[in-house]
Formats: sequence, C-alpha cells, structure tokens
Amino acid sequence: MLIAMKSTATDEQIDAVKEKIRSMGYKPHAIGGAQRIAIGITGNQGKIDPSNFLTMGGVADAISVSKPFKLVGREFKPENTEIRINGNIIGGNELTIIAGPCSVESREQIIDIADILASMGIQFLRGGAFKPRTSPYSFQGLKEKGLAILDEARSRTGINIVTEVRSEETLAMVAEVTDIIQIGARNMQNFALLEAAGSTGKPILLKRGISATIEELLMAAEYIAHQGNPNIILCERGIRTFETYTRNTLDLNAIPVIKKLSHLPIIVDPSHGIGRWDGVHAMSMASIAAGADGLMIEVHNDPEHALSDGYQSIKPDRLKLLLNKLGHLADIMDRKIRSHPPEKIELIKAE
Ligand code: PEP
Ligand code: MN
Repeated sequence: MLIAMKSTATDEQIDAVKEKIRSMGYKPHAIGGAQRIAIGITGNQGKIDPSNFLTMGGVADAISVSKPFKLVGREFKPENTEIRINGNIIGGNELTIIAGPCSVESREQIIDIADILASMGIQFLRGGAFKPRTSPYSFQGLKEKGLAILDEARSRTGINIVTEVRSEETLAMVAEVTDIIQIGARNMQNFALLEAAGSTGKPILLKRGISATIEELLMAAEYIAHQGNPNIILCERGIRTFETYTRNTLDLNAIPVIKKLSHLPIIVDPSHGIGRWDGVHAMSMASIAAGADGLMIEVHNDPEHALSDGYQSIKPDRLKLLLNKLGHLADIMDRKIRSHPPEKIELIKAE
C-alpha cells in the first residue's frame, strides 16, 4: 500500500503515519516526490484496510499497489530515479557509457585502456577482477591484484570504476575500490549477496539473469531497495533462447516494458547480448532507440588475445565510431552524450 500525503502535510503528520505503520508490524518507506511525500508500506502479507489511514491528518489517499515489486515500481514512485556518481547522473537526460574489457588481465592492459577511454570522455571503466566463469579451468580473474589495478586507473585518469562482486566474502574489498558494484547474471538471484551489496549503500548495477523474467529482475532489485539502497541500475544483457547463432538473445522488449513498470534506470550490455563484436554497433543503436539510459560495452585493445570474451569485444577505434553514431541518435532521442567525439563527422554508414 502507498499512503499519499497532502502537499500541506506537516512533519508531525508524516511521522504519525510512519509510526502507525510500524505499530502494525510493517515497514514505512518515505518517498519524496516533486509535489508531495508518499509513504510506502512493505512487510504485509495480505491486503491492508485503507481506512486505517484515510482518517489520519495530512493523508490524501491510501492506494493499494497491484504489483509484487513495491519500492522499485512506478506505482510507489512515478518519477525516474537519477543516480549521482561523482558529477555523473545515471538515469537523467545524459546517456551513460560504461566501457572496458571483460576482465582485468594486467596492469599495462588496464592503464592503456583507461587512458584511451578517459581521453574519449567515457565516464566509467568496466573490468572484472573476480570473474564468474562457466568452467573452473577458465581464467578466474586477478582478484585483489585486479582491484588494485582498477584503483590505480581511477587515480590516474579520474574515470569511475564498475567491477563485479562474485561472493559475499569479497564484497567488502570490492566495495572499497569500486564506484558501482556489478552483480552478474549468474548472481541475480543470490538473495544474500543482493542484501549484503545493497546494505553497503554503493550504487549497484544489477544484470538480468540468464533465464530471468522481467518480474524476477525487478524482484531481485527489490531485495536491494529493501536494504534502503535506491541506487540501482538495471542491465539487460540478453537471455537464453533456442537461437544458437548468437550467444544470447538481447531482449529489447524489456526496455520499454521496464521503463513503464519501474522508475529505475536501465542500461544495455550489447556485448553479452549478441556475443559477437560485429553486432555490437547495431545492438547499441537499437538499445538507445528503444529508450535505454546507457550502454555497457566490452572494449579491448587486443581482443584476439583477451583472456575472456574477446570475440564479443570491440577495439577502441570502433567504440569511437559508435560514439559518433550515438551522438546523432542522441539528438533524435532528445538525449545528450558527453563521450561523443566533439567534432560531429558525417554519419558513418552501417557496417
Ligand atoms: C560480464 O559483464 O563480463 C559478465 C560476466 O556478464 P554477465 O553476468 O551478464 O554474464
Ligand atoms: Mn564478459
């Protein structure tokens, strides 16, 4: 249930509603809107009788929420959530571009790519230090050493870091270094990890599970929000279907659907979505055209020798071309892109 307060409601009236919710054994969540405050209720199993609240001072309405997700739903909060990270806003008018290799492989590799990306105006560097791999014999990441390399890249260039947490045991060390904690597809329903990561208060990039429905993704986000952390970025990264020519099937449908259901920002990872470098431009453009708030793209200086996901990684020069195309698309979509090469060259033809 959502208690909508009148715009004239006093602090005392708001506190009285919260206290009433607590006295019923539930949890109140104040949601600040542009016009007025609303108070969401979670923790109830069945329906709550609205008359409990309608007679209280300052209450405008008591609205029952039809969706199973509450805090991340638009019914609770109609305005888009904007996440502020060191001068960048995710979910605002500006598109967010996160780029970098699948894995942190060496100091030289990360310093090189961080310098290049920073010079292009990219705000976020991705790179996994703890890699969740299908095979235990595949490269598992440089772990703590990888985190130290990412930290150095940030101090050197000022670029923000996005890196994945694979387990609760390593959460504290990841959270200390990263600006955004990535929770990967395989951990989307690791509820203990979602809660622990949520309680760090750090922004969380939550990737859609390999076979997760949109509702399951939003319920996973609800676990994080329920820890009092509203800074969640959803990420569509493709789902498993019967198709074998592509690694996954990028579910572009999810973008407008999620935009309607949730106030959280949603970005797209076209690299995992299609699984081949020669499809990354097309899927990136399609994602922004579908209304995504940004992209997370795997970029590698030497994809042929990458220790993971080389086949789906693009080289920095191709990222530059893509940013140019995205600049044109951003104009059409009424959005901005900071990491756009300053001189707009002629629209590059589709490959
Ligand atoms: C990744 O981003 O490199 C990754 C492992 O992604 P996902 O969890 O979506 O498979
Ligand atoms: Mn990868």
